[in-house]
Amino acid sequence: MDKKVRVRFAPSPTGPLHIGGVRTALYNYLFARQHGGDLIFRIEDTDSTRFVPGAEEYIIESFKWLGIQFDEGVSFGGDHGPYRQSERRDIYKKYVQVLLDNGKAYIAFDTPEELDAKRKEVENFQYDASTRLQMRNSLTLAPEEVTRLIEEGHQYVVRFRIEPGRDVEVDDLIRGKVVINSSILDDKVLYKSADELPTYHLANIVDDHLMEVTHVIRGEEWLPSAPLHVLLYEAFGWADTMPRFAHLPLLLKPIGNGKLSKRDGDKLGFPVFPLEWHDPKSGEVSSGYREKGYLPQAVVNFLALLGWNPGEAHDEMMTLEELVQYFDLSKCSKNGAKFDYVKAAWFNHQYLLQQPDEAWAPAYGKVLAEQGITASVSQMAEVVRMMKTKVIEYVDGQGNKKKRNISFASDLWPLTKFFFVAPEAFDLEDKFIKKNWKEGTADEMTRFSQRLAAVETWTVEGLKAEIDPWVEAEQLRPWNAWRVCLVGAGQGPDMYELAAFLGKEETLQRMKFAITQLG
Ligand code: GLU
Repeated sequence: MDKKVRVRFAPSPTGPLHIGGVRTALYNYLFARQHGGDLIFRIEDTDSTRFVPGAEEYIIESFKWLGIQFDEGVSFGGDHGPYRQSERRDIYKKYVQVLLDNGKAYIAFDTPEELDAKRKEVENFQYDASTRLQMRNSLTLAPEEVTRLIEEGHQYVVRFRIEPGRDVEVDDLIRGKVVINSSILDDKVLYKSADELPTYHLANIVDDHLMEVTHVIRGEEWLPSAPLHVLLYEAFGWADTMPRFAHLPLLLKPIGNGKLSKRDGDKLGFPVFPLEWHDPKSGEVSSGYREKGYLPQAVVNFLALLGWNPGEAHDEMMTLEELVQYFDLSKCSKNGAKFDYVKAAWFNHQYLLQQPDEAWAPAYGKVLAEQGITASVSQMAEVVRMMKTKVIEYVDGQGNKKKRNISFASDLWPLTKFFFVAPEAFDLEDKFIKKNWKEGTADEMTRFSQRLAAVETWTVEGLKAEIDPWVEAEQLRPWNAWRVCLVGAGQGPDMYELAAFLGKEETLQRMKFAITQLG
């Protein structure tokens, strides 16, 4: 019988979770769900010097927001715990001893100064089979000497004894066979007596084994560690239950070459973190997808397609359930995926349109509040209904003016200000105003406003029923000039809709003001 699929997401709490890490977790989630398996959340915090307070909570909150659920792990419980590596010291000690006992590892006392001296002496020094016998370790010192040094409290590390000249095969589900010769590997430090903690490599392998992990799905940056991990599994005698590896493609800059960085986001104006992050040390605030106005479904959908696509099976819009259904780890790309932040905004636009107009209210209300405006939920929903499919102008990464769909509640403000704020002045150079406000327009608008004042039912239907025939009979085309009065520019929704929203009094008020201003 096949073993139950168990995968893990194992971040180090060294700061906010990068969007690439979110993609890694998402792929693990999709893989676990489609195989009826378990997703484990493990915190790899053995490097205490890089620990950042709040990072763990931040990561947990991020997945909660995104709707990516774990089955066990830190804050989720489970019977393979503890899931925080700093709480597993005794377990690692035991396994370090296993490797020392079977001769796969050894104790080394070389001080940083001694190692430096050696590096100066030997060109391209590497602690390995060719040099280890020149160093101060349990392979060169007498056993009594080793015991004495330890008892006297000298610091030491435990190193992995790598046999040279072997082709180590990593069988990767995405990349196929990757072969590396063991001679290029150094005798990696697995454990440090100074803090009584293992290094990443040992803790990672021991935990994957003890937590019965079947597949290691992680970023490409970990591929160079994989041969070492294979050798560690062998050294423990766990080769038979070694997890399958899958190293995901890198996320690349939207423009130019290389890995996506926070700088790209700052420069082009998109977040690289799921949630806003307040750095506890520097106080620096980094923007997040949530605060920027993204819907979690949009972020999930967008990220899922960075490195994989459903081919003919489905279009790009996929719910989490559909992603679970169609995702195929073996069809992931080996090549890096360009981070198309314009596409991210497009996805958000699509998901915003799918929600009811009222659902925009909390975010749109915040945008309005920043401008000192309060509006009811139904008013906001009305404006959203009228304006959500309009386009806005933006400046792209190369400084070009472009147009895009409304992708965030904040996009609405420049397009909807006039619903709440009457025009205060008219730009006489504005093309639309120039074209539509001529000799005689003021008189025409005065007549029009007198007729409007007599309208009995001030609704879209009421206005239509009374004004359409009147306009016809009077042979007038008042629409653009009316728009100048109410909006102050050549934009906005259908005029009856706008007038109905503003109400009779405000509509007439604005017309009067425009007539006096423009004459
Ligand atoms: N702690 C590593 C990280 O921060 C885990 C790498 C792995 O998945 O093996 O990504």
